[in-house]
Amino acid sequence: MTRRLKAATAEASPEPAERTRMKIARITSHVLQYDMPEELGYSQQFYRKRTAHIVEVETDAGITGWGECFGPGTVALANRAIVEQVIQPIVLGMDPLDCDVIWHRVYNLLRDHGQKGMPLQALSGVDIALWDIAGKAAGLPIHKLIGGAHRESVPVYGYGMMLRREDAASLAARFADEAAAIKANGFVATKMKVGLGPRQDVALAEAVRRGVGDDFDFMVDANHCYTAADAFHVGYALDELGAHWFEEPVAPEDLDGYAALRAGLKVNIAGGEAEFSRWGWRSLLESGGLDIAQPEVCSLGGISEYLRVLALCHAHFTPVVNHVWGSAIAVATNLQLLAAMPPLPGGLNPREPMLEFDTTENRFRDDLLTKPLDIQGQVERNGGRAAIPDGPGLGVEPDRDFLRHYAV
Ligand code: CA
Repeated sequence: MTRRLKAATAEASPEPAERTRMKIARITSHVLQYDMPEELGYSQQFYRKRTAHIVEVETDAGITGWGECFGPGTVALANRAIVEQVIQPIVLGMDPLDCDVIWHRVYNLLRDHGQKGMPLQALSGVDIALWDIAGKAAGLPIHKLIGGAHRESVPVYGYGMMLRREDAASLAARFADEAAAIKANGFVATKMKVGLGPRQDVALAEAVRRGVGDDFDFMVDANHCYTAADAFHVGYALDELGAHWFEEPVAPEDLDGYAALRAGLKVNIAGGEAEFSRWGWRSLLESGGLDIAQPEVCSLGGISEYLRVLALCHAHFTPVVNHVWGSAIAVATNLQLLAAMPPLPGGLNPREPMLEFDTTENRFRDDLLTKPLDIQGQVERNGGRAAIPDGPGLGVEPDRDFLRHYAV
């Protein structure tokens, strides 16, 4: 090569490694909390405080990424310690674009201390922030980085109908009204809680069916409060009512219970929000107890691990409807993933993955961002659908004044 050609080549392509090398400079957990205007409940407990755990990863290149860890209340405080005091020292100085290297370095070092649960929830928030950084560095939304958008918007289902401390009859009347209101607001389907006991729970489901009428999908979330026998009692009623899915009917460890329910009931059996990593999901899918998989990206190990779990679910021909809980960061993360989810199995009119959306009062979902997603407004205006953010990374930015105001 002549000297002149060499010089021209060098000018045309400066060392890319030099140009893009970034370092992780700091990781901060923002745990946010406020007292809710109204106490709400599900089958395990009532709660009065709304909590969110937002993770901020700063780089030496001026790019900041945002993520979120699943986990309410005091769990968020414990996860903050894992993020800042356990994971941060492992990854400081690493290149944030090496998200898979980082994932495995953290997982391998924490393996002896928890292959599920809070270490994975903590890692999830960091991993999501690294993907946000990667998108911002490339100037592309995350869905472009993981293969592109199969759809530009997604249908949204609204969940509500939380438990309250009132008698079963008035709760049933409230559920019927609330279900009708969610339908009237434009959501494509709705989901209710149960947990009063099998007999009263059937009455609640009947009330919701009355509220939405015959031609509308409703789903039932037990948050794993039943034995398999009680789940069958409720499940037979859901078969008669034409419920679309029966979520977490039994404990997540009860793989035999899941398989028996799936074999014996018509209603779709859904679950998986309490499962972690590709290894946990392998066992869950192989046990054959799921009609619908509900991976939680802010819990199971972040976007890097979600993509592996999604591939496993599709390898088992199990459709995926992501579990979504938390702030607008979690909602934006899931919009990116739902855009890039391939149709299963494909066709002219495939059943599309839906976005799960909490219809109860939640400032961390509505007011956290500099530019709110306004999912409720979109659903109302756009036939029950929400658009995929197309800005770089997650496509959203939290408002720092808001973070400071609600910090614990
Ligand atoms: Ca659930």
